[in-house]
Amino acid sequence: MEGDGTTGWHISRPSARGAPLADAGSMSIRAVLGRVFSSVDASGPRPVLTLGSGDPTACASFRPPPEAEDAIVDALRSGKHNGYSPTIGVLSARRAIAEYLSRDLPYQLSRDDIYLTSGCCQAIDVMISILAQPGSNILLPKPGFPLYESRTMFSNLEDRHFNLIPDRGWEADLESVEALADENTVAMVIVNPSNPCGSVYSHDHLAKIAETARKLGIIIIADEVYDHLAFGNKPFIPMGIFADIVPVITVGSISKRWLVPGWRLGWIAMCDLNGILKEAKVDKLIESYINITNDPATFIQGAVPQIIANTKEDYFMKILNLLRNSADLCYGKIKETRGITCPHKPEGSMFVMAKLDLSCLDGIQDDLDFCCRLAKEESVIVLPGSALGMKDWIRITFAMDMPTLENALERIKSFCQRHAKLEA
Ligand SMILES: *Cc1c(COP(=O)(O)O)cnc(C)c1O
Repeated sequence: MEGDGTTGWHISRPSARGAPLADAGSMSIRAVLGRVFSSVDASGPRPVLTLGSGDPTACASFRPPPEAEDAIVDALRSGKHNGYSPTIGVLSARRAIAEYLSRDLPYQLSRDDIYLTSGCCQAIDVMISILAQPGSNILLPKPGFPLYESRTMFSNLEDRHFNLIPDRGWEADLESVEALADENTVAMVIVNPSNPCGSVYSHDHLAKIAETARKLGIIIIADEVYDHLAFGNKPFIPMGIFADIVPVITVGSISKRWLVPGWRLGWIAMCDLNGILKEAKVDKLIESYINITNDPATFIQGAVPQIIANTKEDYFMKILNLLRNSADLCYGKIKETRGITCPHKPEGSMFVMAKLDLSCLDGIQDDLDFCCRLAKEESVIVLPGSALGMKDWIRITFAMDMPTLENALERIKSFCQRHAKLEA
């Protein structure tokens, strides 16, 4: 054994990128927001307004439906859900989710196609873990959801990024997808409706994505955690409708549509009309990985059939109206603000990406500098685009009550005015 300290010990392994694994977590949204938060002047006179995170549950207008709360209470009181659940999930909940997803598909998913997970995060964890083989790679959207990057890093899976194109409604650049893929590519990920872009993909674009994936022989992981949160002109269309062309693994949860991210209930749905995933034993891999991880709490699973059956359409409509109004306000205010532009009006999810025009802003170095100074001077938190691979952009969450949102956007506007470069 060699001397002292860490010499001689073989504990830490490098990631596929060569970066230390300890850095993987520092790319998370929470970590970057933590840095922005620490710039806030705690002695400032005004309350801190945060448009940074994706959790709107602190706002009174974004409460879950009472029917869902009742379903939890009933499940808890029934005495039937105090034990361990089967690792892949309670049968009645898997059946209910299969039926829920099948409403929007031209075929029926069966309960055997559904695996319950602890939120959509664990669904992502499971999929990345089982797909990661030495030397393989995965195609991720840029901008995207940074959990994919952190997770692939821990699994030594190489990530390659294809661009989403702002001027084309954040559609995927499918030429770059084709250029990036090779025989070691295991999957491509799409997020629709999009966090962070606020876009919703058309039938036509989804069909093109399916054709591209088929040509390349790669499966699609469709992150539809914002399913049905589409309030513009385009309806939400699940990627699974193209499962006759390409195998689709849909990941989702009740977190966003029912506004209960703390309940930790998500799923993996295998849309595998041609049996390609089964033939590759992906179902067995998912099962064996889920066997060694944690399950969502049994009583939450037990409540799922009632949560789905009892939540009224009115509730979803009310939330969509709130989001539509907030998105309109947000888009309008950004338009009035010199120094920030928004290339695409949000039509889904809870987010919009806005580009900083640093040539109009005096002495602002980059997006992180912008966000930290905004936090310090205006007590407003927005997410630096660098956290999402988009330097000199910011992501704004508009899911909050209108007066607070308006107040926050006014503060951003006065910040930009105060820092405006004087015209020559
Ligand atoms: C919020 C979110 C998740 C995680 O969902 P949970 O159900 O809260 O685990 C996954 N993907 C995207 C794109 C998200 O925005």
